Amino acid sequence: MNTSTTTSGLTFDIRLSSQRKTPQERAALLENPGFGNVFTDHMVTIRYSDEKGWYDARLEPYGPIPLDPATAALHYAQEIFEGLKAYRHPDGTIASFRPEANAERLNRSARRMAMPELPEDLFLGAIETLLAHDGDWVPTKEDNSLYLRPFMFATDVGLGVNHPSTSYLFVLIASPSGSYFSGGIKPVTVWLSEDYTRAAPGGTGEAKFAGNYAASFLAQAQAVEKGCDQVVWLDAVEHRWVEEMGGMNLFFVFGSGEQARILTPALTGTLLPGITRDSLLRLAPELGIPAEEGRISTDEWRAAALSGELTEVFACGTAAVITPVAHVKSADGDFQVGDGKPGPVTLRLREELVGLQYGLRPDSHGWVRRF
Ligand code: PMP
Repeated sequence: MNTSTTTSGLTFDIRLSSQRKTPQERAALLENPGFGNVFTDHMVTIRYSDEKGWYDARLEPYGPIPLDPATAALHYAQEIFEGLKAYRHPDGTIASFRPEANAERLNRSARRMAMPELPEDLFLGAIETLLAHDGDWVPTKEDNSLYLRPFMFATDVGLGVNHPSTSYLFVLIASPSGSYFSGGIKPVTVWLSEDYTRAAPGGTGEAKFAGNYAASFLAQAQAVEKGCDQVVWLDAVEHRWVEEMGGMNLFFVFGSGEQARILTPALTGTLLPGITRDSLLRLAPELGIPAEEGRISTDEWRAAALSGELTEVFACGTAAVITPVAHVKSADGDFQVGDGKPGPVTLRLREELVGLQYGLRPDSHGWVRRF
């Protein structure tokens, strides 16, 4: 065992795996990793208790985490997570995109779920420690990256439900990933979910809380049954205002050429404040594309698509990057946006965002953090 200290004053114990993949085994796994199927050799864990605060930070071999059957997270779902990526830049270095924003969002989620906040330098220190040992897992193949999954869950043992857990485990794992949707930037077909809602006012929609995702699977299965790739969530009160997709925020493009402008549903408290969404709201105006937050109903979506005023729709998120939405299905019938092909605004914004993430564009915003 050896150690490495981070700025937070906590020391990461380094326990290297005796079963690290050989370079050949790793290369074979990086050939076609898919999304979220393959994991690197190590993980980071940090423990918390109300008494000690954060303690026992380690890098250890990736592997099972033994849990008592009465562990609180298994019963009352105090579990939050994040998702970000490490990218291989042309000079061979490794960088991630706005990891500080993920640290901040993790802590917003933690506050909503009555969980402890993790200091930003520990969050970044965990990433740095994992990448220092598993950096060879960051793919070099175009459009591939190393998906980082930090998560935190309640570890008190006992079934008392009147108070939050007093102890937690933070874990960081990493998974080399190819394209989120097989088929590259092929446009997706979406289902407007009127039977189920994802989040209600005052609920947990703006937290990256595991239960939000558990509650979405049935609607996602319904979407697949209807021949769609993804669910579009509507507001819980009137079932008409568009909110977001399964793991992505939505943007609507009105007009074309010099007149093109984009709109995304405002953060009402029921949708996840995506970091990609925020980045595009800032990047688009710099490219001469006015961007606004507002609201759009399903009727307006349909009418504007049919009149041609709405020219493109795309979804955005860390995992899926920017994905065009071309076909919409609902209980009221189906319609198409534009000509059903990826549109110029979608492709232009995608090129700009991916260019920044992969180090192909100068980082004038200070969004790229090298590890
Ligand atoms: N909405 C939901 C429900 C999500 O899970 C995600 C993925 N975190 C997003 C939107 C997009 O967020 P980001 O751009 O930060 O990945």
